[in-house]
Amino acid sequence: MRMRSYQVCECGAPLQLAEGDTPAPQGTQVLMKVLAAGVCHSDLHIWDGYYEVGGGRKLNLVERGIKLPLTMGHENVGEVIAVGPEASDVKVGDVRLVNPWIGCGECKVCRRGDENLCVKPQSIGVYRQGGYSTHLLVPHSRHLFDIGRLSPRDAAPLACSGVTAYSALKKVEATLKDEPVVLIGAGGVGLMGVTLARKMGAKEVIAIDIDATKRDAALKAGATRVIDGAAPDAVKQVHAATGGGAWAVIDFVGSSQTANLAIGSIVKGGTVVVVGLFGGDVTVPTPFLPLRAMTLRGSYVGSHREIAELLELVNRSGMPEVPIRTRPLDEVGEALGDLRAGKVVGRVVLTPGG
Ligand SMILES: [Zn+2]
Ligand SMILES: [Zn+2]
Repeated sequence: MRMRSYQVCECGAPLQLAEGDTPAPQGTQVLMKVLAAGVCHSDLHIWDGYYEVGGGRKLNLVERGIKLPLTMGHENVGEVIAVGPEASDVKVGDVRLVNPWIGCGECKVCRRGDENLCVKPQSIGVYRQGGYSTHLLVPHSRHLFDIGRLSPRDAAPLACSGVTAYSALKKVEATLKDEPVVLIGAGGVGLMGVTLARKMGAKEVIAIDIDATKRDAALKAGATRVIDGAAPDAVKQVHAATGGGAWAVIDFVGSSQTANLAIGSIVKGGTVVVVGLFGGDVTVPTPFLPLRAMTLRGSYVGSHREIAELLELVNRSGMPEVPIRTRPLDEVGEALGDLRAGKVVGRVVLTPGG
């Protein structure tokens, strides 16, 4: 059987089609036929090879261990077609969601259960070959999850946009049921956040976006109110809508502008969770940390345990109301281009398996 993969061979240059023999799984490895591969915004950064860190500075990803050529794609559902001699708990024909957030499995962070925060990350589609391909080699069956009654196309985005939104919401769970939660950015992850917040019991979800189409999508996804992030009085509107400031703001964009909007929007004792990797910087006067008793924290994708919880939640309460469009594998370049141009509402999922 032949394997076809679209690879980044040079940062920012068009992806190249690579063809070769399908690999034979060794040891504990599991070979999957890719059924669905979500196209994620962070792929644009990986493709470009850097994150903006404010002031025109860049965080170079190749220097940080990303090796080219790289097949991106970290939101994958596949069907098991072969297993290595030491693989267990999995058999040919199983349809599984792949947890891409793999670490070394041995350091103290991994041992605590936060493999997604490993200091030697080996994430699928980032540090090792991903799902913009007909086939995907997964190092161990413990990274595979039964998707229950979900379809591969619906389940795939849960591996990144889903668990990223879920993990961020878990960090403000204490106030979620009683107080409005403010979500900035209604792109793929933000919309997932809106709908998951409702499933987790949030009675009020205020979504902020500068794009009217995305604000409409947020309302359809279950937001109880939307605010135009470009409005000069956006902070004031949040304070009015939350009765004096929000306990919890999640920034799914992560630009200088959105992070400042988030910090300005919280009440004393409130929490800002930054999730988005758009890039930028913020300056917070140090006295504000104690005087406003504020918490400013980050959240990066999600843990093994959180993926399991999320799959349980979605199987119990229904799929998030996020529009999903499927495209063939050969259109990966166009799909990434549309995402960069801001033309995608919801999620695009490639279907290499037809
Ligand atoms: Zn992603
Ligand atoms: Zn580790």
